[in-house]
Order: sequence, then structure tokens, then C-alpha cells
Amino acid sequence: MNVSQMLEGKAAVVTGGTRGIGFAIVEKFLDAGAKVALFGSRQETVDNALEKIKAKMPDADVMGLCPALGNYDEVEKAVQAVKDKFGKVDILVNNAGISARESLYEYKPEDFEKIMTLNVNAVFNCSKAAAPIMKEQGGGSVINMSSMVSIYGQPAGCGYPASKFAVNGLTKSLARELGKDQIRVNAVLPGVTRTDMVAALPEEMVQRISSTIPLGRVGEPEEVANAVLFLASDLASYITGATLSVDGATQV
Ligand code: NAD
Repeated sequence: MNVSQMLEGKAAVVTGGTRGIGFAIVEKFLDAGAKVALFGSRQETVDNALEKIKAKMPDADVMGLCPALGNYDEVEKAVQAVKDKFGKVDILVNNAGISARESLYEYKPEDFEKIMTLNVNAVFNCSKAAAPIMKEQGGGSVINMSSMVSIYGQPAGCGYPASKFAVNGLTKSLARELGKDQIRVNAVLPGVTRTDMVAALPEEMVQRISSTIPLGRVGEPEEVANAVLFLASDLASYITGATLSVDGATQV
């Protein structure tokens, strides 16, 4: 199958689609023939992302919204708006996420809650809003953005790995629950990936991290997007409940 046909006729929602890995997924999906709705946190960043896409792909069928992902009512309205515009929702990528690195001694309870709200509650909210639509259509594909820290934990910022362990739990459980409705649910676990966050690190530090990775470098957003594209497509028709690492075999 040609990549440009992998998602032909499909409609997708990508949360956190304004930059980084999410933006790479949006571009990849559009290249593969999908209609895409990207969800971002602010209208301004959503508009910027849409402008960037339109400059590169003037014919792209793309829309942008910014529901508060922690609020179920807002999410339900936004997902319904996507269905109203595209006529369907076949793919949901729960990508939006934030991290923190504070030690437990410094960690503010409200920051722990903030991480959980975006990284976990939003996955629940978006999945709950999209699943009935997918069920009615005869199936769909949900891809949750987890992380390699969901295997290893990390030595500070416990909220982030805790949230990604929860994402894996939602993935495994929803795969079992929604299989009967032909809705596949999988997770992708990136290692260190060159988004704005990594680009802001001193090159010397990126080199040091790279030297500990068997493939000798950090990942690129497009490499994570390739894995998401595969799981979203019919090529992965018998894959559900999987946690797919895209980390160059990083061992922490
Ligand atoms: P990023 O900071 O570059 O982008 C995050 C995206 O989430 C942005 O589009 C932003 O608009 C969105 N977002 C942030 N807060 C939001 C909110 N309150 N409501 C809606 N959207 C919001 O991050 P990234 O590196 O591209 O990460 C994307 C996903 O990949 C995250 O789930 C992250 O945990 C995961 N991940 C990233 C790495 C990495 O090294 N970059 C590694 C493992 C996992």
C-alpha cells in the first residue's frame, strides 16, 4: 500500500497537534490521505499550526479546536464538531501531554493534579467521547502517547511516569473492553525525541544522552509519527492492546 493511501477516507483527531510529536502526526496523517482535526491548548497556537499546514498543503482537509481536555463536556462537544464536519471519527490520537521533573520534596500537589488531568483524564475524556461514534461506524483506532518512562519510571518528577503507567493501563483495559466493537487501542512509547523541549537542551547534553542509546541518537518526531501511522492504519488490523516502544532500545 502506498503511504499516501494508508488513511484515505479516514477522519482523525490528534490532541496536542500544534507542535512537536503531535504536529508531526498531523502532517503524516494528512500525507496519508486523512482529514484531520487537531486539538491544541490555545486558539493562537491552533491558528499558527493551521497556517503552517495550509502553507505546505493548501488542499489539506484540516480543522483546529481548543477544548479544555480535562473537561468532559467540552471534549464531547469538540469531538461532535469533528463528526459534524468530517461525517465520522475513525482515529483518535491522545498525544497532548506535559511533564515535570521536581523532586517529591518540591512537588506541589496542584502540579501533580495538573499532570494527571492532561495526561490521564484527557485520555479518558477523549476516548469516552469518540468511542460511541466509532462503535456506531463499525470500528476505529485509538493511539495513546505514552513514554519509555512507563517502563522505567524516572528519578524525579514522579507524576509524569505515574501518568504514563496509567495511560498504559487505560490502553490495555480499553483494548479488552472495546475489542468487541472493533475499536483497537494501542500505545506508543517514545524515548527522548527531538521536540522543542529537547532542542532547548545544550547540544553537549543531547550528545551525552545519545551516547547511552544503542542507536546512538535521540529520536525524531517523524519517527514516532511513523509508528502512530502504522497503528492507525488497517495494516495494524489485528493489533490492539500493544505498547510499542520507539526509543532506539534505550535502557535507563
Ligand atoms: P510538546 O511540548 O512539544 O507538545 C505538547 C503538545 O501538547 C502541544 O501541542 C501542546 O499544545 C499540547 N498541550 C500542552 N498542554 C495542553 C493542554 N492543557 N491542553 C491541550 N493541549 C495541550 O511535547 P512533545 O514532546 O511533542 O510530546 C507529545 C507527547 O509525547 C506527550 O504526551 C509526551 O508525554 C510524549 N513524549 C514525548 C517525549 C519527548 O522526548 N519529546 C518522550 C516520550 C513521550
